[in-house]
Amino acid sequence: MKACRLSLATAAAAFSDEEKKMAAEKASGESEEGSLALTVEERETLGGLDSRLFGFLNIREDGARMKTLLGKAVHCYESLILKAEGKVESDFFCQLGHFNLLLEDYSKALSAYQKYYSLQADYWKNAAFLYGLGLVYFYYNAFHWAIKAFQDVLYVDPSFCRAKEIHLRLGLMFKVNTDYESSLKHFQLALIDCNPCTLSSAEIQFHIAHLYETQRKYHSAKEAYEQLLKTENLPAQVKATVLQQLGWMHHTMDLAGDKTTKESYAIQYLQKSLEADPNSGQSWYFLGRCYSSIGKVQDAFISYRQSIDKSEASADTWCSIGVLYQQQNQPMDALQAYICAVQLDHGHAAAWMDLGTLYESCNQPQDAIKCYLNATRSKTCSSASTLAARIKFLQAQLCNLPQGSLQNKTKLLPSIEEAWSLPIPAELTSRQGAMNSAQQNGSDNWNSGQTISLHPVQQQAHSWGLTPQKLQHLEQLRANKDNLNPAQRLMLEQLENQFVLMEQRGLHKGQSSHLAGPNDEQPLFPTGSTQYHQAACTSSQNQNGHHTLPRNSVPQGDALNHLSSYIATSGGQKGITFTKESKPSRNRSLGSESSRHAGDTSNSCAGIKELPNHVHQVTTVAISSLNHGESVSPNLIIADNPQLSALLIGKANDNVDTGTCGKVNNTHPVIHTKTDNSVASSPSSVISTATPSPKSTEPTSTHSVTSLNSPHSGLHTINGEGLENSQSSTKVDLPVVNHKSSPQIIPSMSVSIYSSSTEVLKACRNLGKNGLSNSHILLDKCPPPRPPASPYPPLPKEKLNPPTPSIYLENKRDAFFPPLHQFCTNPKNPVTVIRGLAGALKLDLGLFSTKTLVEANNEHVVEVRTQLLQPADENWDPTGTKKIWRYESNRSHTTIAKYAQYQASSFQESLREENERKTQIKDYSDNESTSSDNSGRRRKGPFKTIKFGTNIDLSDNKKWKLQLHELTKLPAFVRVVSAGNLLSHVGHTIVGMNTVQLYMKVPGSRTPGHQENNNFCSVNINIGPGDCEWFVVPEDYWGVLNEFCEKNNLNFLMSSWWPNLEDLYEANVPVYRFIQRPGDLVWINAGTVHWVQAIGWCNNIAWNVGPLTACQYKLAVERYEWNKLKNVKSIVPMVHLSWNMARNIKVSDPKLFEMMKYCLLKILKQCQTLREALVAAGKEVLWHGRTKNEPAHYCSVCEVEVFNLLFVTNESNSQKTYIVHCQDCARKTSGNLENFVVLEQYKMEDLMQVYDQFTLAPSLTSSSS
Ligand SMILES: [Zn+2]
Repeated sequence: MKACRLSLATAAAAFSDEEKKMAAEKASGESEEGSLALTVEERETLGGLDSRLFGFLNIREDGARMKTLLGKAVHCYESLILKAEGKVESDFFCQLGHFNLLLEDYSKALSAYQKYYSLQADYWKNAAFLYGLGLVYFYYNAFHWAIKAFQDVLYVDPSFCRAKEIHLRLGLMFKVNTDYESSLKHFQLALIDCNPCTLSSAEIQFHIAHLYETQRKYHSAKEAYEQLLKTENLPAQVKATVLQQLGWMHHTMDLAGDKTTKESYAIQYLQKSLEADPNSGQSWYFLGRCYSSIGKVQDAFISYRQSIDKSEASADTWCSIGVLYQQQNQPMDALQAYICAVQLDHGHAAAWMDLGTLYESCNQPQDAIKCYLNATRSKTCSSASTLAARIKFLQAQLCNLPQGSLQNKTKLLPSIEEAWSLPIPAELTSRQGAMNSAQQNGSDNWNSGQTISLHPVQQQAHSWGLTPQKLQHLEQLRANKDNLNPAQRLMLEQLENQFVLMEQRGLHKGQSSHLAGPNDEQPLFPTGSTQYHQAACTSSQNQNGHHTLPRNSVPQGDALNHLSSYIATSGGQKGITFTKESKPSRNRSLGSESSRHAGDTSNSCAGIKELPNHVHQVTTVAISSLNHGESVSPNLIIADNPQLSALLIGKANDNVDTGTCGKVNNTHPVIHTKTDNSVASSPSSVISTATPSPKSTEPTSTHSVTSLNSPHSGLHTINGEGLENSQSSTKVDLPVVNHKSSPQIIPSMSVSIYSSSTEVLKACRNLGKNGLSNSHILLDKCPPPRPPASPYPPLPKEKLNPPTPSIYLENKRDAFFPPLHQFCTNPKNPVTVIRGLAGALKLDLGLFSTKTLVEANNEHVVEVRTQLLQPADENWDPTGTKKIWRYESNRSHTTIAKYAQYQASSFQESLREENERKTQIKDYSDNESTSSDNSGRRRKGPFKTIKFGTNIDLSDNKKWKLQLHELTKLPAFVRVVSAGNLLSHVGHTIVGMNTVQLYMKVPGSRTPGHQENNNFCSVNINIGPGDCEWFVVPEDYWGVLNEFCEKNNLNFLMSSWWPNLEDLYEANVPVYRFIQRPGDLVWINAGTVHWVQAIGWCNNIAWNVGPLTACQYKLAVERYEWNKLKNVKSIVPMVHLSWNMARNIKVSDPKLFEMMKYCLLKILKQCQTLREALVAAGKEVLWHGRTKNEPAHYCSVCEVEVFNLLFVTNESNSQKTYIVHCQDCARKTSGNLENFVVLEQYKMEDLMQVYDQFTLAPSLTSSSS
């Protein structure tokens, strides 16, 4: 806990202040506080407590005593704040926040932290504060804010002692946000860290495996799970969950052999899982599904019963039971099971749909329509359009029927309204015997069977329909028996009577069907009706217990919704596997063939999409928030699967037992503690009660959270008790000032860059000795980077479609005219189109034509992006229902020859289509045959699939000699290699940046939105023959686009996204749009955001350049820092590059010079500090000079650039593989670095010399072209 000292010292300082104040107050005679005052000892103990202890307090043997002390401290602090009328030091609030956090009083913690934030301008230097704040946000599922807070912690203090916990939580949140790449990275960073955190490494490994599964990388997932099973002393809970996942994966995926084989695998795994944890309702449920799919109906029923017995009532389970009953030709039982499902989850689209199908099969179209309508209203409904068609069809049918024909018919099933009012479990119980006999006697008896059973049930509904609310009320009244008013007493009596009745009913019910059971010839439960009975009774209790659920379970429903929509949008393989799953549900269409033929496809379709989805949610719990941002509460989502939830949140809330029986309970404390935070205005209540509509929660939760971090945070949404008076309005503006400032990566300096290196290093050394933490010296003017706010004032709407800066070239002289360079690099021009460049320079573009490329290197690798052909400038989800930002494409590889073939055939196909259209021969049968050819594989939703050949590497000078040589004809400033190009000073190849890449396109091929690596400029030439369309947004709007990405759960830096132009228009973001014709060169200026789509068939070539300008350097460094914050690798090693620049280039631009010099200074200082610390700790630094063209180094774990001092494991060093770590990652794996050697690449004197010799050049010698 070395790193903890600084802020503990700060905290201690706050305490001594308080001590003084308390002493002063005592002196002033207010002695009633005396009993509350903290002893010196207590104060010392408290001084050592902050957010870093969160999750670890209970592990300590003095945990309970600590909590008492914390409670006392909070009380004491609050009364002090009251007395001082809120005028206390800001640290005081921070500490109060920590105490409340440790006591898990999140709303008060947030309130106190918020106060600290508003008072402390440089709050971001306080890692413990940021960490505590992150934990509170995490608790409230305000993931966007939690992520920000946690990332800030690691940015300001990469060696933070709870870095592992942060990575773990970041991993979890990114998983929920569907940013799997980031999630995996953070889990891995957590895993390599040998410090303690709230999950074991087995659990983290489980998450990694589950992450693969969530991403549908089933083989990797299987491998990871199986690897995990080999772990010694694997905790039973983890083991059970792993086996459960494996079982379910074998059931749903084609991992091994034919159906029988894979089902037997699945069953084996699930049985083993149940051995490890016999109480898992989930495993029982899955087992039921497996049995059901291989036709072992009785085993399936038993498993489902066990599931209901073991876990809370689940809509999925009841739905599956319904399916099973329906297959068994027991419509009444099926009906009741479905009703059970939809009562538990009103939005269970699959159950509604199944119920509709059931009604249809029983010739009750009116009820069917109602059910289908309910299904379409559900957010989980992924086949709304097919359902709508089905509804229309049924309605039309109804209209054609003679009046009253339906009414006169006897109904097989009670109407939906009747069915809804039945208390289900009892109904199921009493139905059992009746249904079986009905089955034997044929369907004529349906009606009578129904009337028999219905009446007693309805009576039951009256007599013992004690709702859980009533039960709860009863308990409350009982508890306060002695203090009731007359009305309450009367109520108590009534409730008691009902309760007695209820109990008798239960008994009676048991007896009666006990009689009915054994006489059945084909009992569904051969183990005897008694057992069945127990199961049913338990389930009725469950049902009761969870009637409260409609409210609580809304989030579950939500989770489901999100998930389904996820599956709907990402289609793909899942659809295929679902087909298998859904077969049984297709077969269940009972009778009434005639009414079905038209709707058959729609029904089966519905089955395919819906039925398995709802089951699958369990395995994919964590992804369920997709696209729905803040409104989701993952704690609740997680509650879908208690085992997973135990893994996910169990230990994080440190008083929850992850062990054996906490399974069901551990989901509830989370929910309860939250609703208990009853501060009306608090975000806790808003966020935790998760209202059904995501929209309705969004503004509130966002607001409450924004209030803390946004520049406009004058308002405090939360004022925990005792803080009411503390709203000092004085500092309201502070955060505004603080936050409005755009990223200051290169700030004004505390140490002059004009001093010599020796003076500078001396100054830094002295600073270090003044008690400041080393890493903070130069950091204190360098807060974590933030994206720029939208430029102010907003552009008027008529300026949102600006004309694109274009230059028309006629001859070679034009191309080499110096102002062209200036024009392109002018920050005011985000993009420049240089028209007719190829012609003016007589470039032979034919060298890059597909024909020539095939002739030159037909086997060359092409990366292929399989994309959906979207309409013009829009981006729709695969079902074509809504416009979205996410633009996913699958990656694969092929060769130039094969892509060329595809490109050509795509062209010919379209020619043929064109001809057909022209000659106006409408041969329908022909068209149909071609379209059905496509529909099999190539159509997803309504969109055609296309292939984009991208990132074809033309760096090899031998293979592409002619092509590359042709490009040397270009003017210097756009050339791949030139003295004025920063990327030519990196000293090694950065593929695709300082080398050429080729793109081969068919119409619709899309390059999603992005800024270039490290904001470098880029050059793109269209080879033709077709055109490309470009969309361009100026650099200063990247913050707005970043925000849109976050809102859409996309990673601005890493995900694929295609902006919705309407969104941009509304947000006053200007978009340049233009067509790039063959021979046109597009210059993308530094930091410009852009996205491109091919209009015709064409090839493009592109590379990056770095003009030697202050703007380019600044944006590159800013992105370097932003990447660091976001844990994204900077492809351009800016530190390495800066030193090379200092060695090679004379800089005459004072701005550029100052920035470079500052960066060099910072690095110089870091090198010295680190080196001295290592030497002081007795660590040997080994000389390992650089070889020629040796690339810059990156940490093999976290991917930050590692400069000069490389940490290499002993093993890797002796094997000469030199796998590099950064210092922080090295320390995480080996605290005292004993497993590492430190290699040094530069002599300090050398760096100092370069630093000193790098001076501002006179302006005329400026070299660029
Ligand atoms: Zn690292």
